[in-house]
Amino acid sequence: MARFKYPNYLSQTKHGSFDLTLQPSAFVPAGGIYRCTGCGTEIALEGVGVFPDRGHHKHEPKQGPIGWQLVVATVSSLPAPYLHGAA
Ligand SMILES: [Zn+2]
Repeated sequence: MARFKYPNYLSQTKHGSFDLTLQPSAFVPAGGIYRCTGCGTEIALEGVGVFPDRGHHKHEPKQGPIGWQLVVATVSSLPAPYLHGAA
């Protein structure tokens, strides 16, 4: 589970981007921290390019396939590719 120390740097949102499960090698829609829906592994990505492929890490059969869910979206005042927060 993602951790933080200073809550004043994070704010809650109900944005639908956090409800999606994105597939390996899919386009990354927003920069931020993503968790694997199968095992909980977390990765940080810029909002550019694609997610790691299906070989990124191994799962036990009971964990199912790798899927990526947005946990923390970055917000920036800089132009693309840095502004991809799902605020
Ligand atoms: Zn996983």
